[in-house]
Amino acid sequence: MYAPFELDIPTDLPGALAALANGAGETVLPIAGGTNLIVDIRARRERPDRMVGLGEVDELKGMEFGPERIAIGGRTTVSDLLRAPEIAREAPALIDAARLFGGLMVRNTGTVAGNIASGSPAADLVPPLLTLDAELTLASANATRTMALDDYYLGYKEDARTPDELITRIAWPRLPANAVNSFYKLARRKGDAITVTGVAVTLAAADGRCTRARIALCSVAPVVFRARQAEALLEGRALTPALIDEAAAEAAAAARPIDDIRASADYRRHTALALTRRLVGQAWDRLA
Ligand SMILES: Cc1cc2nc3c(=O)[nH]c(=O)nc-3n(C[C@H](O)[C@H](O)[C@H](O)COP(=O)(O)OP(=O)(O)OC[C@H]3O[C@@H](n4cnc5c(N)ncnc54)[C@H](O)[C@@H]3O)c2cc1C
Repeated sequence: MYAPFELDIPTDLPGALAALANGAGETVLPIAGGTNLIVDIRARRERPDRMVGLGEVDELKGMEFGPERIAIGGRTTVSDLLRAPEIAREAPALIDAARLFGGLMVRNTGTVAGNIASGSPAADLVPPLLTLDAELTLASANATRTMALDDYYLGYKEDARTPDELITRIAWPRLPANAVNSFYKLARRKGDAITVTGVAVTLAAADGRCTRARIALCSVAPVVFRARQAEALLEGRALTPALIDEAAAEAAAAARPIDDIRASADYRRHTALALTRRLVGQAWDRLA
């Protein structure tokens, strides 16, 4: 049984933002695909008085492929990503994550903004987006602001979004010419399984040196994070196996994993190191 709640179904973005703004004294939550939120309501982790359905807000859909930047609406589903050849070219790590994301029904309804806003440490789309330097647009009835995805998470299930804001858009710069972007999801099954350790990497190179390194990990800390010290070790250098080992060890050292039913903290730390080493090594080989 669900606790009773009201449901608004606005048909445009101003209507959705107005519905979120009118929440004095109530818990009002946006709902997109519902693949996280309905589970949370059933488990009594969330008890909204009112929900604002985003299913008819077309301004939150759509993709733009500009000369320098790519932007997708917050209500883009995982299946929408898989159907877009430009995403496969410009953000292959997102496709790596989308292919092993839930089952077909979840991919058809689960959205990118919902994945980001759920704040789960195991959110699979977040490491790829971090390694693409993604930026979020947050809109409320009164204002619109943008922020780096990297600044969005403040702690476990804590984020910079105010309750009256929606994530309307996610944008990132096109990859440079000589770049590799990939994600690996380690889980107990290939599909419909929560990630045990996830690693995304973007590496770019010119003149035999690494010009950009981005490494992001999920499921190994209270929040999805960028391994900045590991990145700093690689940038500006010609990568060697020893340097890649060192960077992978830094990434694993930045992890704060827990033991749970899926894996031990030790296993997560070990696989964070092994997968970072593998993805950075493979990317460097491809760039060479
Ligand atoms: C069987 C199953 C398998 C799953 N597999 C995976 C998986 O492989 N990988 C993975 O990462 N996740 C997985 N999930 C979790 C979930 O499907 C994803 O996180 C999905 O992307 C959530 O999107 P949604 O649109 O359904 O979000 P909802 O459930 O609608 O919302 C989630 C949260 O985001 C908020 N929200 C939604 N849209 C917005 C917006 N535009 N702006 C601000 N806040 C918003 C809601 O208020 C809520 O707090 C799975 C879930 C299930 C049930």
